[in-house]
Amino acid sequence: MAEHCNWNQDGDETSGAWETACGSMFRLDDGDPFENQMHFCCYCGKPLSIQRFERDETGELDREEPRFFPASAA
Ligand SMILES: [Zn+2]
Repeated sequence: MAEHCNWNQDGDETSGAWETACGSMFRLDDGDPFENQMHFCCYCGKPLSIQRFERDETGELDREEPRFFPASAA
């Protein structure tokens, strides 16, 4: 199984800031890394996984399960 670099959305579900597992921060103006066609961490070169924030029905902020790029999730 491939090793991934997990990027955690930083702040809340509207944030464009991502904290990388290898210790850097990356900012996107629009969309998440996968929506921006990023497949690999630009710092350590590992395949990316991402964890976004989401709001549940009570408005509570939760972290989603890690997502992997669709091609490697099949
Ligand atoms: Zn990395």
